[in-house]
Amino acid sequence: MKFESEVVHAGDRKRRDTAWVPSTTPIHLGTTYLYQSAAQLDRVFGHEEEGFSYSRYANPTNQALEELTTAIEHGFGSLATASGMAALQIAFQTALLDRPRSILAAPSIYGASVMLLDQILSPFGIDVTFVDVYDIEKLERAIAEKKPGCVFTESISNPLLRVAQIDRIAKFANSNGAALVVDSTFATPMLLRPLDLGANIVVHSVTKYLAGHGDVLGGIVITDKQHYEGLRMLSRIVGPVLGPFESYLTMRGIKTLALRFERQCQNAKILADWLAEHPCVDRVYHCSDPKHPDAEAINRLFTPGLFGAILSVEIKDANKDSIMAFMDRLKMIVPGTSLGDVHTLLLYPVMSSHRNVSPKMRERMGIRENLVRIAAGIENPDDIIADLDNALRLC
Ligand SMILES: *Cc1c(COP(=O)(O)O)cnc(C)c1O
Repeated sequence: MKFESEVVHAGDRKRRDTAWVPSTTPIHLGTTYLYQSAAQLDRVFGHEEEGFSYSRYANPTNQALEELTTAIEHGFGSLATASGMAALQIAFQTALLDRPRSILAAPSIYGASVMLLDQILSPFGIDVTFVDVYDIEKLERAIAEKKPGCVFTESISNPLLRVAQIDRIAKFANSNGAALVVDSTFATPMLLRPLDLGANIVVHSVTKYLAGHGDVLGGIVITDKQHYEGLRMLSRIVGPVLGPFESYLTMRGIKTLALRFERQCQNAKILADWLAEHPCVDRVYHCSDPKHPDAEAINRLFTPGLFGAILSVEIKDANKDSIMAFMDRLKMIVPGTSLGDVHTLLLYPVMSSHRNVSPKMRERMGIRENLVRIAAGIENPDDIIADLDNALRLC
């Protein structure tokens, strides 16, 4: 099946041993499951027969979602988790189950991911080193020298939209015994599939594009064959699983992912082109820019014609006060701390995602005081442009 069909059908209508089957997967809230006999339940507990016994181990609604995400990311198996952060935590634990307790990570990752590595995993004895993954030779030297158990990167960085060469990183990580974990929240399987490029474990915050409507907090871990049993084993014990209601909403969201993301990418490109010509704009960051520092990787790895739905913009002569006033002038665009929703979202990194990064460090990261990030929604682009134009008018 092609992607557009797979998102609509995968995971649903699996059970055909009953007189009727609902056309879409219902929300199964039951926590325990009963069988014809104690002997059958015994076989289910013993993994001799497929089935459900207790919702922390597996749940029919979650399993339907997991089949769907496994299909669209070309994985072996998935685990739906309570948040993107819960997904990352169990992904790192899975990667390090039988490997050296060390992680090499990109520095330009999501703020809470830095804190997970630095303030949670590191004090528990995991050696964490940050290295510039966009300098591929430097990264290869670091992997050869450190021999880490895990290499971690995002497919597209926030908010400056650098693109990691996942295929090359995977080759080098795997040949040095490390698992490659990729947070592909910004890319979605529409732009690229990390497992096809050699990564071992993929993580999404489904809160963003996969659920897509700003009403679900959730995560997903998708693995290759080698890591799936370890992931399930950890989850059976620790239980960071998604609730069945959120699983249902996420499945419902993914059914329109192909339509939404294509429109969001189109809108982002229209906005990037329009903003580049705007007198109040210094610079636009978008993956469609032919002068993008990773243009070669974008060409090689992205689905042709799609450049992602996020762009960042430096506004001429703006400081914190004028950016806040600009945000207050927005009438339709939602100035919210997220991305991937059907409505266009605008975020000010200095105020939110990079608030706790020192100004000096921010400067080094290239995140200026006049930078805003826009996650294009599915609205008519004329309305998004009119809203931005009105808010920028007083720049
Ligand atoms: C939002 C986000 C996360 C965290 O996900 P939650 O669902 O908020 O826990 C992790 N990585 C990236 C890239 C994100 O955008």
